[in-house]
Amino acid sequence: MIDTAWPPTRAAALQRLAAVDAAAYARSRNHLEGAVTGLSPYLTHGLLSVPECLEALRLPPQHKLVYEFGWREYFRHVWVHRGEGILHSLHPGPLSDAAYAAELPQDIRRGATGVPVVDEAVRTLYARGWLHNHARLWLASYVVHARKVHWRAGADWMLAHLLDGDLGSNHLSWQWVAGTASHKPYLFDAANVARFAPPPWHSEGSAIDLERGALEALAREPRSLAAGRGVGVEEPALTNLPQEASTAEPLPGADLWLAHPWALGEAPAGTTVVALVLKEAHGQQPWSRQRWAWVQSRMAALSPRRWVVDRAGLVAALRGAARVRTLANPHISPWLPEGVQALPEPRHFPDPECCCSSFSKWWSRVSR
Ligand SMILES: Cc1cc2nc3c(=O)[nH]c(=O)nc-3n(C[C@H](O)[C@H](O)[C@H](O)COP(=O)(O)OP(=O)(O)OC[C@H]3O[C@@H](n4cnc5c(N)ncnc54)[C@H](O)[C@@H]3O)c2cc1C
Repeated sequence: MIDTAWPPTRAAALQRLAAVDAAAYARSRNHLEGAVTGLSPYLTHGLLSVPECLEALRLPPQHKLVYEFGWREYFRHVWVHRGEGILHSLHPGPLSDAAYAAELPQDIRRGATGVPVVDEAVRTLYARGWLHNHARLWLASYVVHARKVHWRAGADWMLAHLLDGDLGSNHLSWQWVAGTASHKPYLFDAANVARFAPPPWHSEGSAIDLERGALEALAREPRSLAAGRGVGVEEPALTNLPQEASTAEPLPGADLWLAHPWALGEAPAGTTVVALVLKEAHGQQPWSRQRWAWVQSRMAALSPRRWVVDRAGLVAALRGAARVRTLANPHISPWLPEGVQALPEPRHFPDPECCCSSFSKWWSRVSR
């Protein structure tokens, strides 16, 4: 069930970090088989932090990889400033929101569109819980611009199947592709796929093999390409909570550290670690069983005390503890009860106080 490319251990995270080849990254990162780092599942779940990675890599500030880590912190910046506003279009895109379908069609869910680049991406997403950035861009662009599905439906679906699913990076990237957080829609053609992907993904002669002008026109008309008629694969089941049942026993007088799913790094020395799944934080976004198995495996290594509780249950279980700390994270912070001290997430770039409306504005401030 757990993809061996990302064992859920700190040792495996550090091994991946040590294996990063920054020079090869800069040359090949746009290719599906290029030297990308594969660090995202570890970053999303707090086994690594951006400052820790950049300290280990010792790169010049203008290196391409520093810039990409910057995108992660920029999306976090926007999310922290805008809160749930990121779940809605930040500004109008090429068409009104109402012109897009609210549901993702079955042929896309099943990877049966007949467009190789799309069907390969869906199969890879389900099998590995991870996609190369270029594959995410192609898939999102096809869903929104070629099939006229609202970006939110696509974003919720992709997030659920990703091992590195992060609401800020994911939903804001979908908005960037849709043109609701950027100046223009992200479009791609078959030649772009042929340049950056291996042969099974090539899509010449398929429905997306269009001239640039035709792609632009398609994105700006309510018209959708036709659904595929293939059989495809079954979408993996999703669930809001892990299978494991648990009881939360109070620990009077303890100095507690709450290791929630986005804080699975090392706990501060001397603390009693409780692995916490707070039900309210998972109400809106179900996850694949693969992701839950990954998170649970790491939680089991961190603590024998694993709590799956709602907020009221957590408040009761924390009564009498001497001190309760955790790491802040916008996926869970809004639901943490008073009295839990949430330490700020480590950031590499200083966070500007006002919300920057574009990456370039943010970058010019933080990289001064
Ligand atoms: C539609 C779409 C959805 C996405 N959803 C997510 C998501 O849920 N979680 C997630 O972590 N990333 C997401 N990304 C961003 C990016 O695709 C992944 O971070 C990256 O592919 C992870 O692989 P990697 O670690 O090998 O990245 P590398 O290319 O090796 O980059 C190193 C690190 O930099 C950061 N990074 C790189 N590119 C981006 C980017 N474009 N945006 C934000 N951070 C970036 C990541 O933390 C990544 O781990 C999404 C991108 C798109 C286009």
